[in-house]
Amino acid sequence: LSAEQFRAQAHQVVDWIADYWESVGERPVLSQVEPGAVAAAVDGTIPDQPESLDAVLADVDQHLVPGLTHWQHPRFFAYFPANSSPAGVLGDLLSSGIGAQGMLWATSPAVTELEQVVLDQLARALGLSDAFCHLRDDGSPGAGGGVIQDTASTATFTALLAALHRATGGRARTEGVEQGRYTVYASTQAHSSLQKAAMMSGLGERAVRLVDVDPWTQQLDVDRLREAIEADVAAGRVPVMVQACVGTTGTGAVDPVAAIGEVTRRHGVWLHVDAAWAGVAALCPEHAWVNEGVAELADSYVTNPHKWLLTTFDCSTFWVRDRSALVGALSILPEYLRNPATESGAVVDYRDWHPQLGRRFRALKLWTVLRSYGLSGLRAHLRAGIAQAARVAELVDADPRLELAAPPVLGLVSFRLASSDGLGAGRADQLTREVMDRVNASGAAYLSHGQVAGRPFVRWACGGWRTGAEDVEQTWAELDRTLTELLPTR
Ligand code: PLP
Repeated sequence: LSAEQFRAQAHQVVDWIADYWESVGERPVLSQVEPGAVAAAVDGTIPDQPESLDAVLADVDQHLVPGLTHWQHPRFFAYFPANSSPAGVLGDLLSSGIGAQGMLWATSPAVTELEQVVLDQLARALGLSDAFCHLRDDGSPGAGGGVIQDTASTATFTALLAALHRATGGRARTEGVEQGRYTVYASTQAHSSLQKAAMMSGLGERAVRLVDVDPWTQQLDVDRLREAIEADVAAGRVPVMVQACVGTTGTGAVDPVAAIGEVTRRHGVWLHVDAAWAGVAALCPEHAWVNEGVAELADSYVTNPHKWLLTTFDCSTFWVRDRSALVGALSILPEYLRNPATESGAVVDYRDWHPQLGRRFRALKLWTVLRSYGLSGLRAHLRAGIAQAARVAELVDADPRLELAAPPVLGLVSFRLASSDGLGAGRADQLTREVMDRVNASGAAYLSHGQVAGRPFVRWACGGWRTGAEDVEQTWAELDRTLTELLPTR
């Protein structure tokens, strides 16, 4: 392609995206295709001769779009949002066009240094303090720092490797881990990525202690955590890491990080905070409480701008207070990566901050988003999602057929069918699922489910960048109609 041809085709793709965004609200949110339908329709033959972009776009329209569940749909309320945005797409496009690979500082200094600067500023804006920054407030080098990972799952895995490195005095990387000796803690509501991290690190799933939560708020019970740690220590085991969650996947519960941090400090245990979804809410002063305790007590922290913060997937921001544990766990320098900048010790080589070697220029996308919206724009977006969830909670509260399953948190509302004289808990639970399935099958909106104390509930997660107040009302109307169909007498 000549530069002119590329320019023309790029315009065509941007036009396609703009049209898609404009019309996505008219499509069914949840893809209606049967398993295998897309694979059967798509011609996977690699052509011998080049084909036109027109031919590719025609196939996207005809064969792929019907097989998409539309995450950017204004009535996508199922999982936490994975927001794209104009700024996110354009920043990502720039990064793809530049095509730099930032495994070492030397392979593209701007890739590393922009990431350091952006993550320092974001850490401050989130209230993590300069303890997690590459450069302290006084301009001196910090002991910690931030890095962009692909996902929170990778960040949590990385945190566990750093914690293990510290707990074993470096033996985990040389000798591996002794089975049954090391333990990890989180609430029963923790994301499954923690178990996966334990599996991948060689600790094994059984090393993970899932601690009880408060039956209503679903927050980790700190007394139970303390007892679990003390019992393991008494039995000769070594607690390695506690994960606190700021915004659990099920109901959005925010664990008491400060109280958990006091326990971890007393026992010398690494405190990792998984704030994948909710952490970014701290950009709003009135929601800064979600990150309370992190600046003083956490060892590592992750939040995902690729969820609520308008940064096209993937972009997960991860910080550590002491980078030496992380780099100690992961650094490896084969001959072909040696270079004078690395040897000077004056630069950060991000290859040592995560499992993989190669890395994209994700900071450019995040920087574009942060600058294009500004704090005021980002806050307006976060507040809109929170206000929409408050409206959902109000509607649920006012409807005798429904009850909250847990307290609403920020943009998430969890509710179920209320049991009553005529409707036992078992039947109410069945209907909870059925109402959700019917709304989803209608294509009007997409909701998901969770479970607390063995009882299912519907999750309604607000925060989509294209969602307006009218989308909440429209989805509620569909839910109300479905409830009336299922419960004609109530
Ligand atoms: N932690 C929490 C609390 C989550 O809700 C999620 C995903 O929704 C994750 C971790 C995993 O995020 P990722 O897909 O970035 O690995």
